Amino acid sequence: MEAIFLFIVQEDDLDNCLFCKIISGKIGSETVYSDGDLIAIKDVNPQAPTHLLIMPKRHIGTLMELEDADTELMGSVFTVAKSLAQENDLEASGFRLVVNCGSGAGQSVFHIHFHLLGGRPMRWPPG
Ligand code: AMP
Ligand code: ZN
Repeated sequence: MEAIFLFIVQEDDLDNCLFCKIISGKIGSETVYSDGDLIAIKDVNPQAPTHLLIMPKRHIGTLMELEDADTELMGSVFTVAKSLAQENDLEASGFRLVVNCGSGAGQSVFHIHFHLLGGRPMRWPPG
């Protein structure tokens, strides 16, 4: 019974979540990194010369849905961000890793993702 429920939830994510559709290949994207747990794609509407989105392949809606068991997964987001920053020559100029949580913070796709932004000066505080 539990297994059937999980299956339905996953089907639901695939049908309703833009990033789940990208991860499953239903919708195209420019993938720059992929492993068993994470994928990084180019943002379709870049806000900086480098604008990548790093996300878990498993559907997690927002940062507030993270569980203790996700600690290692979230740690690996940072090491992937480091590698991508190096690949994109962002180390010297600096870069930003941003997660918007909730619509009030500007989250528009409810599948947790980390924006890696670089290649231009960054202002603070962000708007
Ligand atoms: P957020 O507003 O933090 O939820 O970020 C969502 C990001 O997804 C935005 O920067 C969008 O430009 C980006 N985005 C939306 N649709 C796509 C897509 N099909 N491929 C790549 N990035 C996308
Ligand atoms: Zn999803």
